[in-house]
Amino acid sequence: MEMSLPFSRPWPAGKTAVAELKDRPESSFPLARRYADKMIAHAREEAPNECCGILAGPANEGRVEKLYHGINAEKSPVRYNIDPQQLLSIHEETEAKGWAILGIYHSHTHTEAFPSATDVRLAFWPDSTYLIISLKEQGEPVIRAFSIRDGRIEEKQVVIGE
Ligand SMILES: [Zn+2]
Repeated sequence: MEMSLPFSRPWPAGKTAVAELKDRPESSFPLARRYADKMIAHAREEAPNECCGILAGPANEGRVEKLYHGINAEKSPVRYNIDPQQLLSIHEETEAKGWAILGIYHSHTHTEAFPSATDVRLAFWPDSTYLIISLKEQGEPVIRAFSIRDGRIEEKQVVIGE
């Protein structure tokens, strides 16, 4: 089925994309500093390819308890796909613990931390949060979070805590 997407071409970096979003995101995604650090380290290890992974924790609390380093089955600098076998075993483990997959992260090694058209097209988890780590500015990695539902992108504020 062809879906109509508001974002059918790659975004020019920065302005245009951000202008579409609310200035102050209404919802937030709490993330302990140690997980943010791990995500950035993972992105750097895999560069120039994209890294990917899962953040999981108790479903009702929305607190990340575990980070799973994903295997990017695409081994690509422009796209990611968590190895399906690995995703299945992560899913089984989180189910067994009564956890939810709270976040799905991947990196953009040369572009902004904003979902690409492909990211939107392949966003199959409407209840999860998509986190993107950008290494575009080498010294200043950026992590942003989004919910992607029916082709609509909504930013969540990443709240770094202890
Ligand atoms: Zn992406």
